[in-house]
Formats: sequence, structure tokens, C-alpha cells
Amino acid sequence: MQSIKELYKVGRGPSSSHTLAPERACRLFIKEYGPYPYYEAELFGSLSLTGKGHNTDAIIKDTLPGSTEVKFSLDWPEKFPNGFYLKSYNEQHVLQHQWTVFSIGGGSLQIKELQLNWNDEVYPEKSFQEIQRLLARKKWTIQEYIYNHEPDLPQHLKTIIDAEVACVQRGLSEEGLLPGKLTMKRSARQLVLQALNDHDPAEQTRLELMAYAYAAAEENAAGHTCVTAPTLGSCGVLAALVYYCVIKRNVPEKELIDALAVGGLFGNLIKANATISGAVGGCQAEVGTAVSMASAAWAFLEDESIPQIEYAAEIGMEHNLGLTCDPVLGYVMIPCIERNAMGILRARDAALLARYMSHIKKHIISFDMVVDTMKQTGDQIPLQLKETSEGGLAMEYQEAKKH
Ligand code: SF4
Repeated sequence: MQSIKELYKVGRGPSSSHTLAPERACRLFIKEYGPYPYYEAELFGSLSLTGKGHNTDAIIKDTLPGSTEVKFSLDWPEKFPNGFYLKSYNEQHVLQHQWTVFSIGGGSLQIKELQLNWNDEVYPEKSFQEIQRLLARKKWTIQEYIYNHEPDLPQHLKTIIDAEVACVQRGLSEEGLLPGKLTMKRSARQLVLQALNDHDPAEQTRLELMAYAYAAAEENAAGHTCVTAPTLGSCGVLAALVYYCVIKRNVPEKELIDALAVGGLFGNLIKANATISGAVGGCQAEVGTAVSMASAAWAFLEDESIPQIEYAAEIGMEHNLGLTCDPVLGYVMIPCIERNAMGILRARDAALLARYMSHIKKHIISFDMVVDTMKQTGDQIPLQLKETSEGGLAMEYQEAKKH
């Protein structure tokens, strides 16, 4: 498995695979070869089908220093579904350099022509079962295991917490419309104000958590700076947890850093053994993973045991299995924003259920089993429901608009 730092990254929305990954690829391309007067980016797969709504063309043009043509094409000869060609040309319009870039989810990249050291393997263990055996043998906690491999991770997670809090704070202060043809109204601020007037403390907390998730997800939809956790489309789930812990529960920073590390380990296992890309596995891979990570983090913060944390992560993913990705008009708004709000509540309930159920019986489905199931389910979800906006709610909306 790669570094957990590669899972939590700060970047501009609205989509880690459609904005952050192309932006990172363009920056690397310039770093590798220097500036050129002309560029061409040819997008394929979901990048081509929903690239307009996700601002992929805009971010590529903004990042590359020369005059840039962005093409939306369909005949992609590569096996991995989401990718693009990046080309540079000299003054005489003669091709100088070309990359084949794969956007593999959460802003992560693979480049056919270049080995990236951030893709290096950091963790030798391949499953939670292997990790759990090692923990038992060495008498380590989960966070000890993580920091033994990544001693500089706490410092990185400190910056992630600051970025999450800043993102939610901005989202809670903004009003007006989100950009794009959907003319969607921002709702986070009004939601949190309504929560303040709610006299039922349990309901108030639930509303606040949802408002925080809305705030981050709306910031993402606006193309502002957010944190991939594990992706930008699903950024609201962990952001809500972090903001709630910092602002409402005064959780000590070290504890919160450890919780993000623990949640990150489960996200990393999903990334390594299945996928965190909506274009590959549907929304179960994005919001499903975010819920699983937040469930583990929440259980950790509640001082649960390692099996209870694993159980929470399993529940978090299990009840998102089959979740499709069908963003209306290609914008990361419907169903994405609301789904993040529901996601943080699911994570909280998963941690609660894991705590009490573990006193009643041993759970039968392990985290590793559910990850494997998610991968297989993702393979069986039709392409129309994997970030192409050619099925599901996206089609329903288009049809309704015709009448
Ligand atoms: S439906 Fe889920 S996977 Fe698809 S764009 Fe929205 S958040 Fe991402």
C-alpha cells in the first residue's frame, strides 16, 4: 500500500479525479519538460463524458502555460477507463512530448512514461487480516503500526485538519448559488442556523453534522479548496467529523490526528484492494469509502477495541455496496452533496452499532471480505452508472427536462 499522505491531499474541487489529478499531471509535465507554446489534452472515459461539468478543461487550461486545446474523445485504447493524453508542441506545432495519464481516483495518478515515487509501496501488508495478526504479535496499536511506517504522517495530518476546518468554516459562511447550469442554492449556512434553534440535543447534533458535510461538499462543488478523503466528491464526510471534533468536542489534536491515521489505513486498504474511483467502482468507492474511513475514525475516538474499529469500518462500507455514481449534468452536486450529509450520519451509526453488537455476537463478514465484495460489485455496475452521467438520476433529470 502507498502512503496515507497520498490519500489525504489538499486540492481544488469539484472532483479529485477530474480536477486534482489533471492539475497534478499538468504541473508534473511542466516540471519534467519546461514550458511550451502549445499543448493538447485529449480526454477519455468519464473524464470526457463529465469533464465539462467537472471543470476538467478549465483546470487544464489554467495550469498549462501555453495555448491549450482540450478534446473530448471516446475511443480510448487503454484498459483503465479514466485517462487522457497530454501533448506539448513547439512554435512550429511539432509534437515534442506526450504522456498517457491515468486518473486512478482521489487525485492519484499513474503515468505510462514516468515512474512516480509517490506511488511507492510504504506498507508491506496487503489486508487488514495481515495487519491484525502483526498487531497481535507485536502488541502494537493501529496507530503505532502506521507511524512505524510513516513517522512524518502526524505532521501531514495536522495540515489536513487545518484545511478541513477552514473548508467547513468557509462553506458555513457562504450563501448564494453554486456555479453551473443547475442553479443550486447553497444550503449549509441555513442548515446550521436551523440546527441552533433545534431544542432536541440529539437532533441538533445530527443536523449540525449534516450541515458541516454540506459546507465542505458545497465548497467542493464551487471549485474551492478541499481535502480528498478519500476523494473530493466525498470530502464532506471526514470534513464534518473533523470540524465537529475540533469545534464542538474539543478533541485533543493528537487524538484527532490518530483517528485520521486509523481511518486512513482503512481507506488505503480499500484503495489498494478495490478502488476509490467513482469512474471505476461507482459511488460505493467514493462515499462508501469515506463512510468506512469515518466509521473507523469515529470508533477509534470512542476508544473502541481493534476488532470494534474493524467492525465499524466494515459496516460503513457494507451498507454502501452497490451505490452508483450518476451526477446530474455531470456536476458534483446531485446526489453528491446530500450523500455526504447522509454519509457522516451513517458513519456515526456504524461506530455505535459496532460497539454494541460486538458484545452480542462475533460479526461474520470481515472488512477484507466487504472490500473484495465492493470490488466485484463495482465490476458489475454498468458503465452508465460510473461517473458518465448516462444513467440513474442523471438520465432521469434529462428526461424530466424534456417534458
Ligand atoms: S455520485 Fe458519488 S462518486 Fe459520483 S461524482 Fe458524486 S460523490 Fe463522486
